[in-house]
Amino acid sequence: MSITVSSLGFPRIGPRRELKSALEASWSGKTAPEALAETAQGLRAANWQRQKALGATSIPSNDFSLYDHVLDTAAMVGAVPKIYGWTGGEVPVETYFAMARGTHGTTVCEHGHSHGGKGLPAQEMTKWFDTNYHYIVPEFTPGQEFALASSKAVREFREAKALGVHTRPVLVGPVTFLKLGKSGEHGFARLSLLPGLLPVYAEVLRQLAAEGADWVQIDEPVLVLDLTDPERAALKTAYAELAKAVPSLKILVATYFGNLGDNLATAVSLPVAGLHVDLKRGAGQLDTLLAAAPKELALSLGVIDGRNVWRADLEKTLDLLEPVVDARGADGIIVSASCSFLHVPIDLEQETKLDPDVKSWLAFAVQKIEELAILGRALDSGRSAVADALEASSLAAASRRISPKIHDTAVQSRLAAVTPGDAERAPFAERRAIQRAEFGLPAFPTTTIGSFPQTDEVRKARAANTKGQLSDADYKAFLRKATEEAVRWQEVIDVDVLVHGEFERNDMVQYFGEQLSGYAFTQHGWVQSFGSRYVRPPIIFGDVSRPKPMTVEWSGYAQSLTGRPMKGMLTGPVTMLFWSFIRDDIPRADTCRQIALAIRDEVVDLERAGIAIIQIDEPAIREGLPLRRGEWDAYLDWAVQSFRLSASGVKPGTQIHTHMCYSEFNDIMPSIAAMDADVISIETTRSQMELLDAFIDYKYPNEIGPGIYDIHSPRVPSADEMTALLEKARERLSPDQIWVNPDCGLKTRKWDEVKPALENMVAAAKRLRATL
Ligand code: GLN
Ligand code: ZN
Repeated sequence: MSITVSSLGFPRIGPRRELKSALEASWSGKTAPEALAETAQGLRAANWQRQKALGATSIPSNDFSLYDHVLDTAAMVGAVPKIYGWTGGEVPVETYFAMARGTHGTTVCEHGHSHGGKGLPAQEMTKWFDTNYHYIVPEFTPGQEFALASSKAVREFREAKALGVHTRPVLVGPVTFLKLGKSGEHGFARLSLLPGLLPVYAEVLRQLAAEGADWVQIDEPVLVLDLTDPERAALKTAYAELAKAVPSLKILVATYFGNLGDNLATAVSLPVAGLHVDLKRGAGQLDTLLAAAPKELALSLGVIDGRNVWRADLEKTLDLLEPVVDARGADGIIVSASCSFLHVPIDLEQETKLDPDVKSWLAFAVQKIEELAILGRALDSGRSAVADALEASSLAAASRRISPKIHDTAVQSRLAAVTPGDAERAPFAERRAIQRAEFGLPAFPTTTIGSFPQTDEVRKARAANTKGQLSDADYKAFLRKATEEAVRWQEVIDVDVLVHGEFERNDMVQYFGEQLSGYAFTQHGWVQSFGSRYVRPPIIFGDVSRPKPMTVEWSGYAQSLTGRPMKGMLTGPVTMLFWSFIRDDIPRADTCRQIALAIRDEVVDLERAGIAIIQIDEPAIREGLPLRRGEWDAYLDWAVQSFRLSASGVKPGTQIHTHMCYSEFNDIMPSIAAMDADVISIETTRSQMELLDAFIDYKYPNEIGPGIYDIHSPRVPSADEMTALLEKARERLSPDQIWVNPDCGLKTRKWDEVKPALENMVAAAKRLRATL
């Protein structure tokens, strides 16, 4: 019997984003639904065959999704909210997409909120654990009934079987599914729905077994979260029932993204055939797991990183695996990736422009399955059977350990010399007095968050410049003109603190990453963010430093055009970190501090160039919170320190802003206050200022710009509406604390929306001033 080599899930998007093209063509009516179905089937077939050819022996099915695997689960159990008009039977694909995207002109913002349009709204979307993947949030009502309403899992198993690939179907587990959902205003215990849900799962298992499935993978990543006793009990109930439903079918309960921790006893006591654990995120848990796991429980060991892009050190990995195989026998071990490959790019071989050294340190999904296969062969037949592959892996690891491209002693000694004083500024009250005198701004000062519309014209010019069709000089002249027009227009409508518009930026992380040492970019390294939206995260491979100023020229130019203060715009260290693939050879806190020092240099250079107000965007601070509460403090500590390090190199009279959209602030107010930005702008329009409550309760002392313009919607808010929102803020904050601004940058909007909206915003500020 040879060792099982397993993949928990493969990217769905296709090596050249084929799924995106097919989805968008189908949604826009350019192609018939059959064309989409055909592309999807082709991608599934290619994924199965490829994984098989690469040496995986346990291959997933039903990991594919047209949009989202949690939404697939909602369809499977018939959890379709009433408004979508589904009356039973198989959930039609139109209903599925309506749940995902809304209908008729609704636009869905990055965070799954739907806006505008007359049709049905989309369901909400939120982050899948601590990844940058977003799932559609299932909605539950008290007493809700479930019914089998999608044969997808069974269909795809059959489809693979017809191609000669015997798969292990993947389902989102019932407890994870309920816990990730929401119960609207009802606020009832969602777990009370479990007894009604389990029979549907049992039926799916029966059908899969009838088709010939022998193993099924049921994902319960909630096992790495802080759970309540009733939640743990629910897991036991669920698996007792599911195991009974089809005794011949072996269930692998998959956990990932962290340690089982205090859920270990629950996990190992589930009456299932196998348990998958993440030994990358939960690196420390192997020994306790081995001690606790009954001998007959097969262990799927997630030793290849499914969340990151690094090539593994295979010899080291074997050092870990071999004793386990000796102790438990090859039958009892499955060699696996830490989690689904959903979160990494597909194939490194597509990258032709990467530095060859950097490339030699990387592995994407395809390469990671190759690594798993090598591990499997070494465990079956001894290391000598794969000596060459092991040697290549060790050589790559060794070169990574010492490469001067990664290890920059100047950066390291600078970091070592940082003192607490480097992250300190004068007290806020002192800074504020100086800044008030210096800027002489009116009450309720107006500003925007940085970007102005990235029009087709702007994008085309950038693309032409990248392709070499537009010279650097012409591109620059074009950007200068756009910037100048934006500055003039802001003066005309009478904004107080101006921005240059960020026309030169492709993306708030990429723009900076491209100018920093230690960052690499891929051509095809896309990963799914949600639905048909994919991102291409940069790869931080080495010590980060800033060879030369990044934004000083643009901000300086914009400032030279006006007597009003021009706000400099930077992306903060925590956001630069979280929206990239990060190093696994040093603590991420260290990388964050390195980036902080690079940003600090930029802040100081901006000040020197006469920019007296500088905004450091940190929308990712909140989303970076660890999955377990017990780890929050340590994280917040280094995150806040990094921000402060980036912001504290300047004089007290230089005003530091930060911007945090998409964030809730309950539970983390002490850390927000500890960031000690002179001004923070937040996103408050949609919540009708509710998100401001945390600041009010905390008696937040510094200045705040609560957003009054929902930039995710094409709708132009009136001056009355915006005044009403400001009134709400003024009732509970000190009037001299309040700034007036939109929720976020305006890059996704059109000028004919932005112009009237910002005119109305300035009018609203003036109305408030008149009442003072
Ligand atoms: N300064 C950026 C902009 O205005 C901020 C974007 C963001 O917070 N998501 O686009
Ligand atoms: Zn924002």
